[in-house]
Amino acid sequence: MIQKVLIANRGEIALRIIRACREMGIKTLAVYSEADVQSLHVQLADEAICIGGPKSADSYLRADRIISAAEIADVDAIHPGYGFLSENAKFAEQCESCNIKFIGPKSKSIRIMGDKAVAKDTVRKAGVITVPGSDGPIDNETEAVKTARKIGYPVIIKAVAGGGGRGMRIAHNDVSFAKEFHVARNEAEKAFGNGSVYIEKYIEKPRHIEFQILADSHGKVLHLGERDCSVQRRHQKLIEESPSPFLSADLRKKMGKAAVKAAEAAEYQNAGTIEFLVDAKGNYYFIEMNTRIQVEHPVTEEVTGIDLIKQQINVANGEKLSFDQGDIKFEKHAIECRINAEDPARNFTPSPGTISLYYPPGGLGVRVDSHAYSGYTIPPYYDSMIGKLICFGPTRKVALQRSYRALSEYLVRGIKTTIPLHKAIMSDPVFIEGKATTAYMEDFMSRTPTDLF
Ligand code: ADP
Repeated sequence: MIQKVLIANRGEIALRIIRACREMGIKTLAVYSEADVQSLHVQLADEAICIGGPKSADSYLRADRIISAAEIADVDAIHPGYGFLSENAKFAEQCESCNIKFIGPKSKSIRIMGDKAVAKDTVRKAGVITVPGSDGPIDNETEAVKTARKIGYPVIIKAVAGGGGRGMRIAHNDVSFAKEFHVARNEAEKAFGNGSVYIEKYIEKPRHIEFQILADSHGKVLHLGERDCSVQRRHQKLIEESPSPFLSADLRKKMGKAAVKAAEAAEYQNAGTIEFLVDAKGNYYFIEMNTRIQVEHPVTEEVTGIDLIKQQINVANGEKLSFDQGDIKFEKHAIECRINAEDPARNFTPSPGTISLYYPPGGLGVRVDSHAYSGYTIPPYYDSMIGKLICFGPTRKVALQRSYRALSEYLVRGIKTTIPLHKAIMSDPVFIEGKATTAYMEDFMSRTPTDLF
């Protein structure tokens, strides 16, 4: 049984894991970089070890140092959170071979789903519909143009190793394709150390709808409903909600079944997410699986009442899931706003610095997952998310009203944040009517004066 967990992450997700562990009577070890000495995860964990310099490559991405810390402190499991080493099959394998439980799927499943071309092929063979596209990666330009024509423009060129919305380019004809193909390959090489790309039909104005999966090591695979993550900027999510205002009960059922099938195809264990794009007619296409806990997991937790981090630990312990698909009830509506230290009025430029005053909202139906506090200096080395506001209630209307109310109470002084942007979205008729697609943000920004932010 897991008695002590090393948290190979920082920020709000490190706190979230500490909270679950503490409730389960499990000891925690934080690891941190020299830039994170003041961080809350370092202060709140039972123990903390510094693992290197401020840059991620010198600390949070140093598998060797993290494993050494685990051995020195005698932990029996590592929770990788999201980002950093969470989807690194080699790291999972190293943990496995050092007899440290990796709180996540087996390295084999990470490998299958980590290569997006292999992932698509795997789920397609299991009967799950994927976005029409190339059969695997394409490296040759002539062959790539031929494939793009066959698929039909517009197409999207995507990195097989992609993530975080990076390494994607859209082409509308042969001329732009030739240019974007090279740009995409170069970007992928730089960002992921792997220039391999594949081509997909570009679905116009789709919704991004994903299903939360939970699977144990005894073959039980369940889904915990969907999250609609269509509000995105540059393919990065800004707002997530559950249930999706778009899905009918029938479509939800079909997609949930497809999600379970996709996870089974990778012999998946632990928590993961199957992502789909859904067009206006309700056709849905698998795009990828994230083999880790996601930023937006609290939305599902509030709707279902299931603690996903505790479930991850139980599964890693070899326990059976104690409920079946029919036992999972979806009784609430929840909306999450990502609070980033960015200036929405200035093209979302990062706004690191010291938070002079931090006062999070509270009250009925409000949850804040954040590592921020008054006097905290946001280091410039990591991503700009400083918190998540999750508001929930019996209906979407209540969740919306509560989000607006909570955003109005949320005080973060000394830096710029996305709070005013979220407030404007919560009062925008298109969003209120549940009509946002992945094209929403561009449209919203073009018709909203930035002095509102
Ligand atoms: P990443 O792993 O970088 O997050 P994804 O494959 O999950 O990349 O895609 C992220 C977002 O990019 C999607 O939510 C969607 O908005 C857009 N996208 C990806 N593939 C397509 C596609 N074939 N057509 C239209 N939009 C797409």
